[in-house]
Amino acid sequence: MNQAPSGATWWPSARTGICRPDGAEILFWFWFYKYAAPTALGTNAVPKSFCDGRLGQLAFESSSANMKRSLWTQPLTKQSSPAWPCPACASGTLAFVPNSFVEKETVESKQTYKILGEPESITYTFSAWLKCSYGNCGEKVAVIGVGKVIATGALDSDEELNEGGPPSPEYQTIYQPLFCWPMLDMFELPEKCPDKIKLELQAGFRLFWLDQAASAGRLRVSLERLMDHCRVPQHLGLHKRIEKFSEKDSVAGEKLMALKWLGNTGSHQSNVSRDDLLDGFEILEFLVAELFDKRTDRVTKLARQISKKHKSRRK
Ligand SMILES: [Zn+2]
Repeated sequence: MNQAPSGATWWPSARTGICRPDGAEILFWFWFYKYAAPTALGTNAVPKSFCDGRLGQLAFESSSANMKRSLWTQPLTKQSSPAWPCPACASGTLAFVPNSFVEKETVESKQTYKILGEPESITYTFSAWLKCSYGNCGEKVAVIGVGKVIATGALDSDEELNEGGPPSPEYQTIYQPLFCWPMLDMFELPEKCPDKIKLELQAGFRLFWLDQAASAGRLRVSLERLMDHCRVPQHLGLHKRIEKFSEKDSVAGEKLMALKWLGNTGSHQSNVSRDDLLDGFEILEFLVAELFDKRTDRVTKLARQISKKHKSRRK
């Protein structure tokens, strides 16, 4: 029996909103890659700036996230995929390898269509290869997912218009990714970001399409690793660790607490939406950029240099 992934309500179908991917095959690939994935934990020096309140009001109000949310919500077609960033070089974007797209109708779909005769009951499992075309990179990424036939609501002919009857729908198939390997970074991870934090964030990325609640759970674990990095005592538990952290940086602490609640929902209730998760990733992108790239510090320094240089010229 096929099983829909949690949170699989993304079909743009106005009629059914139903998703029935081939769960057994998808879960096989998911678990295979989850446990086959190499891990490489490392250590980084602890920057003092995060823990001494530097990540404060100015930083949160003057910066904006760079994560392109639409990249992670767009469906695919047989001819093209969203312009996902290459996981190897991070400079190129991925595009379909010609003729690599393969789709197969599921057994359940065939059985249901036989009974109902409705095109919207048809579902597919698909696989395809993507390739980076930047320079000599050539990285290849496998993607698997599900396809579903939806009604577009277009008219079949002018004759129907003249008759004044209801329009007959046209149909198209929408393809939604469930898993990519190697998985792409959904936002830029600074080189100085400790591997233990990167590892959890990338685990969250891998689960984004397949299981939003589990993805939120890995996001929560990344907060634990962040608190480790800031040397907030582990025995306190995450809630009190963030409260402790907030004593020095209440603005950042507020955001971290929101992420903790999101992670709690994912761990205990399994009803995290993709939008909630994308919100969480956006906040995390900002946090790691500020902490490890010191984006606001760099821009502030540049602004001061420009002011100093040009104010002196006017005098
Ligand atoms: Zn590349």
